[in-house]
Amino acid sequence: MTTTVAVFTRDLRVRDNPMLAAAARGADQVVPLFVRDGKVAAFSARRTRFLDESLSDVDASLRHLGGRLVLREGDPVEEVCRVAGEVGADRVHIAGDVSAYARTREERLRSGLTCEFVVHDDVHTVVPPGLLTPSGKDHFAVFSAYHRQWDAHGWRQAVPTPRRIEVPKVKGRKAPSVRGEGGESAARRRMTSWLRTNAESYTDNHDMVAVDGTSRLSPYLHLGCLSALELARRGDKAPDFVRQLAWRDFHHQVLNARPDAAHEDYRPRGDRWRDDDHAFDAWRAGETGIPIVDAGMRQLLAEGWMHNRARLVVASFLTKTLYLDWRAGAAHFYAHLIDGDIANNSLNWQWVAGTGTDTRPNRVLNPMRQAERFDPRDDYVRRYVPELSGVDDARRPWTLSTKARNGYPLPIVDLAEGRARFLAARG
Ligand SMILES: Cc1cc2nc3c(=O)[nH]c(=O)nc-3n(C[C@H](O)[C@H](O)[C@H](O)COP(=O)(O)OP(=O)(O)OC[C@H]3O[C@@H](n4cnc5c(N)ncnc54)[C@H](O)[C@@H]3O)c2cc1C
Repeated sequence: MTTTVAVFTRDLRVRDNPMLAAAARGADQVVPLFVRDGKVAAFSARRTRFLDESLSDVDASLRHLGGRLVLREGDPVEEVCRVAGEVGADRVHIAGDVSAYARTREERLRSGLTCEFVVHDDVHTVVPPGLLTPSGKDHFAVFSAYHRQWDAHGWRQAVPTPRRIEVPKVKGRKAPSVRGEGGESAARRRMTSWLRTNAESYTDNHDMVAVDGTSRLSPYLHLGCLSALELARRGDKAPDFVRQLAWRDFHHQVLNARPDAAHEDYRPRGDRWRDDDHAFDAWRAGETGIPIVDAGMRQLLAEGWMHNRARLVVASFLTKTLYLDWRAGAAHFYAHLIDGDIANNSLNWQWVAGTGTDTRPNRVLNPMRQAERFDPRDDYVRRYVPELSGVDDARRPWTLSTKARNGYPLPIVDLAEGRARFLAARG
């Protein structure tokens, strides 16, 4: 009798899940286990709900296969070791991951488990982090070079869904029973309709902030409700869209080689960031007086998601125009984004701040020009900044009378002065 434990982390799916497929292969009994770590910082209610919905959906899928999800709470390493001991497991399977938290968990499991321990590096990304390297280096620091290899490299085949999962007698809480936007079933519906209807117009629409021109699959990809590999394979008619999945892999392979880049400058530029609580609070609340910046920040608070172009604009505004530390911005994003992901969040923030992999680290996005190009009719601004919904020139509210501005604030910074201050500081 062979018994295995399949430890789910952020790979909450049964389809194309190499970790689950390997745990089920040749095993008589499998414990599909998820451990809630009470010590992980509390997330926003919206994000917690998305996780619950995803757990609920995995549980339903496993029940379909004859099993269920076993839910425990506590220290993940202690609980995994305890469950492995209780069922007399021969092997424990888990997906490899790139954050410092995941690596520590993996090391502790390796020394704590008395049975065989298998780590699968091909679960979260299309191409495993660390597989592609430039000669003599441990990771790619330039996206275009990475992308060329990523595209040319053969990808693994999708793995089959286990036919049957038989769970031994083991204690565990019942998985939450909530349905909503989260989970593999919802992810697959969204993927199918996206690929059928919108993916081909991605190239034209993906930068237009008021248009629903991107997939909005990021929360599902973050929690692994969807296989990035399956999405990349099925998106072959939309190469610009698939390229974004290469960006995702790119950031994962940087963090894999440099886990400290979650919090430390990847390329220190000698910055002496300003300290300005007033400006930071205005940025967070969407009250800076720069309409496209405020629209983005208010979208984040309202939806737990923000359009990528708006993320670029608000991050450039914080780190360059206001010259405030990217870490503060990244922490605010991480607390509110449902797709909040250490690799994508920290490394995109560093990219914008010029401390990361951008080959033009000192470029400053002009929010007025960005608005002209990517929100030409001010639809995005009007949607998220209701004070300006009825005015003619929503892009330049400072030209309006106090009454017409409707309580909307004047700009907290002169854009040209902010830019000059940043460029002087960077030398
Ligand atoms: C400052 C900043 C912070 C960010 N923080 C996060 C984060 O915490 N989590 C996150 O998933 N993305 C983050 N991104 C990347 C990007 O904004 C989102 O992935 C994207 O907006 C999600 O929307 P979508 O699913 O509709 O994307 P689509 O345009 O449909 O792209 C498909 C998928 O590709 C990936 N992707 C797209 N753009 C990027 C990118 N620039 N870098 C890495 N992967 C990308 C995502 O997984 C996305 O779901 C951040 C970008 C910036 C500029």
